Amino acid sequence: MAQLTVVIPAYNEAVVLDAFHRRLAAVLDGLPLECAVLYVDDGSGDDSWAVIEALRARDPRVGALRLSRNFGKEAAMTAGLDHVQAGAAVLIDADLQDPPELIPELVAQWQAGYDVVYATRSERAGESRFKRFTAAAFYRGMERLSDTAIPRDTGDFRLLSRRALDALSQLRERQRFMKGLFAWIGYRQAAVCYQREPRQAGRSKWNYWRLTQLAIEGITSFSTAPLRLATWTGLASAMLAFGYGLWVLVKALLYGDPVRGYPTLILVILFLGGVQLLALGVIGEYLGRNYAESKQRPLYFVDEQKPPRGSP
Ligand code: UDP
Ligand code: MG
Repeated sequence: MAQLTVVIPAYNEAVVLDAFHRRLAAVLDGLPLECAVLYVDDGSGDDSWAVIEALRARDPRVGALRLSRNFGKEAAMTAGLDHVQAGAAVLIDADLQDPPELIPELVAQWQAGYDVVYATRSERAGESRFKRFTAAAFYRGMERLSDTAIPRDTGDFRLLSRRALDALSQLRERQRFMKGLFAWIGYRQAAVCYQREPRQAGRSKWNYWRLTQLAIEGITSFSTAPLRLATWTGLASAMLAFGYGLWVLVKALLYGDPVRGYPTLILVILFLGGVQLLALGVIGEYLGRNYAESKQRPLYFVDEQKPPRGSP
């Protein structure tokens, strides 16, 4: 059985797959490990599957998996990782933005005892300033909103040890934000820096609309902070309403009120508005808990277990 499997999600990548495989194969040839490659065709509409089959005919290390339709990268990665039997897996994009030449470094860290070795981009070549800015804002926002520390400027390019794979396979939630899940499982994690290259050929499948959706996915699956918004705005507006109501009341008592009924009316409206938001917030809190519960994540993973020294 292979010791290391490289998993590549591919969606309409026919134009780069050959070049990609050439570079990957050269790297794997130099590794003192028994390696396998698993291409996951995420329901491509182009010739990707034919190209993958051709690669498989030429290279005995290549395995292939074809999804019934396009499920998206997160699902394609999950499918690939679920099928890995090796002692470790490397996840890498097909478009050569993640250099396969980095794999030996990832492997070295794995052999040094790390379970999740992720590649952090030190430079984002070929990406617009706007994309860099939004990416930075997203990572910063996530850091503040979520309890899980998700490493910055880190894509899905990484190595996962056997037990990290086993842990990950227990997270079966439908809304999958993989970058978060990789971090959530814990264990020993290490970073390796690299320069992200521009895409070699083909087009990015992530337009801003999909990226926004991914960001919302990330925030909502790792934080219930947005649900709490109602609690705080409700509390704030109820308190403001109380202060303002007091002032209107005192004014009406001292100077009388020119518009009859105004003070009571405004008081009731403000107060009820605040209380309603507060009640929504309470519902939000319960909804958040219900949501966390429905994800059915395991409660913990054990890193090491040491029996008492006295036992046989
Ligand atoms: N991908 C996939 N399914 C999708 C979209 C993308 O499997 O629905 C794969 C794609 O083939 C590539 C990787 O995910 O190997 C990264 O995609 P892309 O390069 O378009 O994303 P970017 O690098 O722009 O973030
Ligand atoms: Mg890319």
